[in-house]
Amino acid sequence: MTKFIFVTGGVLSSLGKGIASASIGTLLKSRGISVSMLKFDPYINVDPGTMSPFQHGEVFVTQDGTETDLDLGHYERFVGINLSSHNNVTTGQIYSAVIEKERKGEYLGRTIQVVPHITGEIQERIRKVAKKDEVEVVITEVGGTVGDIESLPFLEAIRQFRLEEGRENTLFIHLTLLPYISSSAELKTKPTQHSVGKLREIGIQPDLILCRTQIPLTGEARSKISLFCNVEEKEVIQAIDVENVYEVPLRFEKEGLTDKILHKLNLTASKTDLEEWQRWVERVNHPRGEVSVGVVGKYVKMKDTYKSINEALIHAGAANEVRVNTVWLEAEEIESQPETYLASLHGILVPGGFGMRGIEGKIEAIQYAREQGIPFLGICLGMQCATIEFARNVAELGQANSSEFDPHTPHPVIDLLPEQKKIKAKGGTMRLGVYPCELARNSLSHKAYGENEVYERHRHRYEFNNKYRDLLTQRGLRIAGTFKDKDLVEITEISDHPWFVATQFHPEFKSRPRSPHPLFRDFIKAAMKRGSQTLTEP
Ligand code: GLN
Repeated sequence: MTKFIFVTGGVLSSLGKGIASASIGTLLKSRGISVSMLKFDPYINVDPGTMSPFQHGEVFVTQDGTETDLDLGHYERFVGINLSSHNNVTTGQIYSAVIEKERKGEYLGRTIQVVPHITGEIQERIRKVAKKDEVEVVITEVGGTVGDIESLPFLEAIRQFRLEEGRENTLFIHLTLLPYISSSAELKTKPTQHSVGKLREIGIQPDLILCRTQIPLTGEARSKISLFCNVEEKEVIQAIDVENVYEVPLRFEKEGLTDKILHKLNLTASKTDLEEWQRWVERVNHPRGEVSVGVVGKYVKMKDTYKSINEALIHAGAANEVRVNTVWLEAEEIESQPETYLASLHGILVPGGFGMRGIEGKIEAIQYAREQGIPFLGICLGMQCATIEFARNVAELGQANSSEFDPHTPHPVIDLLPEQKKIKAKGGTMRLGVYPCELARNSLSHKAYGENEVYERHRHRYEFNNKYRDLLTQRGLRIAGTFKDKDLVEITEISDHPWFVATQFHPEFKSRPRSPHPLFRDFIKAAMKRGSQTLTEP
């Protein structure tokens, strides 16, 4: 029988509810308990795939090709599981499903209402995760902040859920913020009191309160929260700010959170197995050297857009025992003066993206990396730009472009496949999810993976145009990976370069702390060869 944990957030957004939920998953898994995760997103979009990165941050892609919230990335990395479409549910999906059933006449003449129909559909989605993933515990993170109009149906649904499943099978954890007022040197509990008050108004009494705080939780704050929020003092748990998010599970463990959860859910578990995690965290915190990698993107002011890339660089750094100092560069700004921004870097990465803004800056950055022998990793749009750069500057196709940016280019080296040309609707219609990629022997990619065939996740509409394959390869571009069934180019490399790899897929989605992605790992290794600074322990 499955048990259910619900994580809600109070006071304000960006408290790290995703990391907290993922950490709880890590901890239960470290006790030998099988876990799956579910994220509820209260917006009306069916999925985040159609949203601007400025609005939403990264769109994480699961194996089955679902475009999901970036918290699923945290879950996969922390808990070490692969999630699917049923692990991310939005208001848009709930309403679409209910309206579709109504049109089919499935409600037999009844009036369709938020309670019980919308809330019923939400509960069904929680049970679906338990059933499909066959785990002992499902952790559900309710997006948004308590008090928002949008998240109300989700909160009402989980209130009812406890009634049906029983107290011993459900647990409510509330993450809140204790602001520190330096003038009076005090942690303030009032916002927490209000947010728990809001929860109790709708019938949810949290079992555990996680207090995000800058300084250690004081006894006074603990007892106030206990008194006003109707929990015992031992149920108030410190969630102190940390530099390295992978430390959060270790901190929670120290606070006794795992034992408290197990006790409340009446679960028996094995001895904790966090030693390896701990060693890995130490490795991240005590690097032997440092390399600087420039990420040339167009949404760099919104760091969440490149979440998985950032994490994959951390994992790759740890594997090489260096800290990766990531320099976020706005592509438009480096246009016409790449040297100023790029000369001091040990590696250059051009990530995925859409639309034409910043393209020329990215192409210039790639040309600089190619000509100066700086290790380069291009991802999706980064690979497409690398193809354009090579076509223009090496194969002398001056006006080469992607038909995404110039529909009338005489040399569409990146183009739509005929089946994509027919598609009009934007939602969920790109090449999405896992495809096999066969690797060319003796390529840098083959060396990195140590395998002949790999499976990687995609999210793009445009492809390498095979009409230019012969010309470009004659000039020295190497096709290092292909999707055999459709003869699509998946990886390009440049042979007479220290390390130049560009992939049509997104390797960052598969990188995990203790199994860093091979391409990221070798990219950082190559960057170290270019020059890394040795750090001396203080
Ligand atoms: N815009 C490009 C395409 O649709 C690249 C997409 C991406 O980088 N994820 O093919």
